[in-house]
Amino acid sequence: MQTIRTAKAMRAWSAAHHCEGVTIGLVPTMGALHAGHRALIRAARLSCDAVVVSLFVNPTQFGPTEDFSRYPRKLKADAALCAKEGVDLLFAPPVSEVYPDGFQTTVSVTKLARRWEGEFRPGHFEGVATIVTKLCSLVRPQIAFFGQKDFQQSVLVRRLVEDLNLGTRVVVCPTVRDDDGLALSSRNQSLTPTQRRAVPVLYAALRAGQAAVRAGIRSATRIRRLMRDKIATEPLARVEYLSVCDPRTLEPLSRITRDAVLLGAIRLGHVRLIDNLLVRRDH
Ligand code: AMP
Repeated sequence: MQTIRTAKAMRAWSAAHHCEGVTIGLVPTMGALHAGHRALIRAARLSCDAVVVSLFVNPTQFGPTEDFSRYPRKLKADAALCAKEGVDLLFAPPVSEVYPDGFQTTVSVTKLARRWEGEFRPGHFEGVATIVTKLCSLVRPQIAFFGQKDFQQSVLVRRLVEDLNLGTRVVVCPTVRDDDGLALSSRNQSLTPTQRRAVPVLYAALRAGQAAVRAGIRSATRIRRLMRDKIATEPLARVEYLSVCDPRTLEPLSRITRDAVLLGAIRLGHVRLIDNLLVRRDH
């Protein structure tokens, strides 16, 4: 497995592989890899000739009071996991390589970034859209792999690659969870044992919402209330948002008359966790 740290070398690698007609799969990550990332790598390995994993803790998607400096960095363990999974290339540039002095161009996806994560993390999606655009233009993957765990991000990235004609197909892979339902996340490592015992309440709330839809409840207000009541059983957790929305536009629904997505974010002390579940009208 090769490691590249500069934009110039990344471009050269990509050009050489394109010349040979190789299908390049990109898995963008911020490192501290876990089984969720591994599932994306495996999906890429199955459908692409060459797999590139980017490891980059992107400062522009963190707000000024967020956990950029505390975000876990585990380059050695990440490289070992990637090598074991048959990754061809690690792209791990330093911040100065991605955002050199004088950098001032950003990408923003307007409507899809406005609500939910966008409301609680101003500027976050502009950082995400900018880094995804840069990675796609450097790596030039035919396919890029994202996780459903970050649902709003996946919808926004699909829009972005289409709007900017980036020539990359977006594949979204299912959320990988711990046995108790908690969606795997690099941020889970920051939880204290007490918080860790409390956090499955988010998935439990989404499941309660999903069960209500399956039982025939159509009012989004009732479903949101049910989810809120579930979170309220866990005194350590504070709700940031719980919503019932259209999975394509991410606009809130008042009644479930078609497919929907339940989105949730909670906070426990310094740690913020998000999760989601798709619900189908016919369930
Ligand atoms: P991150 O390193 O957290 O920026 O995540 C990199 C990619 O992995 C994103 O596309 C995430 O949606 C995806 N991902 C993170 N956690 C999970 C998970 N538990 N299951 C599936 N994909 C995930």
